Amino acid sequence: MSSECVFCRIVRGDIPCFKVYEDQSVLAFLDIGPVSDGHTLVIPKQHFARLHQCPAELCAELTSCAARIAEAAVDAVDAEGYNVLCNNGRASGQLVEHLHLHVIPRHSGDNVFSRWPSYEYKPGFADKIAAKIRKKL
Ligand code: AMP
Repeated sequence: MSSECVFCRIVRGDIPCFKVYEDQSVLAFLDIGPVSDGHTLVIPKQHFARLHQCPAELCAELTSCAARIAEAAVDAVDAEGYNVLCNNGRASGQLVEHLHLHVIPRHSGDNVFSRWPSYEYKPGFADKIAAKIRKKL
């Protein structure tokens, strides 16, 4: 628990939130700056900055909770789909350094993520990168 962390403060009840779900280890509340109606953040109550720092069992709880919330949020706002995403580190866009899953209800043509900057690997390069990652596991 960090005294500075905004999400720890929400967990403690020092800062209000629009609560969607709570159990012993997980809290879910509406994002204050939503990219779509029903945009919800699902967090572990315990403070971890990034996904890989969170124990596997808690990760499993967090993910299954996000899946439940996604289904409910899609239903609630009459959406057609959803994204679940998790920014890790400043380079990825993480602003709040307390692990959180974004659950984002989506409608066709809503332009929430209008650009996915995909490209093709140069021949032989994908093989090298995959091997490098395998070696680190
Ligand atoms: P990220 O860029 O993945 O770190 O996202 C952090 C998210 O937290 C942003 O979408 C913010 O709108 C949201 N946020 C920040 N402070 C609060 C707060 N007090 N209550 C709810 N959401 C918040």
